[in-house]
Amino acid sequence: MANLGFIGLGIMGKPMTGHLLEAGHTVHVYDVVPGPVKELAAQGAVVCGSSREVARKADITIIMVPDTPDVEAVLFGKDGVAEGVRSGSIVVDMSSISPIATKEFARKLAEKGVEMLDAPVSGGQVGAEKATLSIMVGGKTEVFQQIKPYFELMGKNIVHLGGNGDGQTCKVANQIVVALTIEAVAEALVFAAKAGADPRKVREALLGGFAQSRILDLHGERMLARNFNPGFRIRLHQKDLNLALQSARSLGVSLPNTATAQELFNAIAARGGIDLDHSAMVQALEMLAEHQVSG
Ligand code: NAD
Repeated sequence: MANLGFIGLGIMGKPMTGHLLEAGHTVHVYDVVPGPVKELAAQGAVVCGSSREVARKADITIIMVPDTPDVEAVLFGKDGVAEGVRSGSIVVDMSSISPIATKEFARKLAEKGVEMLDAPVSGGQVGAEKATLSIMVGGKTEVFQQIKPYFELMGKNIVHLGGNGDGQTCKVANQIVVALTIEAVAEALVFAAKAGADPRKVREALLGGFAQSRILDLHGERMLARNFNPGFRIRLHQKDLNLALQSARSLGVSLPNTATAQELFNAIAARGGIDLDHSAMVQALEMLAEHQVSG
């Protein structure tokens, strides 16, 4: 059985750690908030007092925190991974962060004899709980092969894209598709509802045709049920779209609809909704149309 570490036990990290424990592995855990640490300790996890301690005890350290500065703090901050990590061990960052910073983090860890994979995920809270995540991996092939059995405990569609940072680039592309699909579903439901059709039946009909998608299914249902508890917070999706828009600028790529989706999230954030689920984007379109999809 493997000697693993997991840092960041939030909406995603907690159930992912649960699957590693269920498979019988030893998992050293750390989070800055105590709640999820206690829950996982009850499931057999070994509690640590810092990221440094996790890295010192584990052969493979997995990270699942919100944003680029959080990963930097976990890796290179005070009591961070870099202070405890042993040469020959592996760091796997499953957070969604900047592809450019990722390359730099991998380079700095390599100086210590530590290999890194970037392995952001898609599939949301449900995917984390059901171990059906899509995992997009960047890093050396031999390191990927070594870690793949653990990815298989957390996900189903596991793709090795290329070198360090390529997993994160793929995740940014994923987040563009997700944001624009949420926007399309929200527009369609607002349009149908204001035209007088039953939006529930519209969703049901569309789910059987060419417009069907998991987002129409899950987020469409959330919009109809007015269930905007996260799930995936607007705050985190805005972080991902920032990565897309900043990279697009430096690459000379135009992402007009990504920019619009970001503005619609801004409108919800301005009303105090930044920690709602990203399906709450529908509220911005409802304001513009002066019509609510349901409720
Ligand atoms: P979350 O806010 O629920 O959890 C993050 C956890 O990291 C928290 O428990 C927090 O206390 C901990 N943390 C933050 N800084 C830390 C530090 N310095 N040391 C130790 N712990 C620290 O976020 P989440 O929804 O689980 O998302 C995590 C990552 O996964 C993000 O990058 C997000 O974009 C990505 N993601 C989330 C979803 C989703 O549906 N929630 C889906 C795909 C990808």
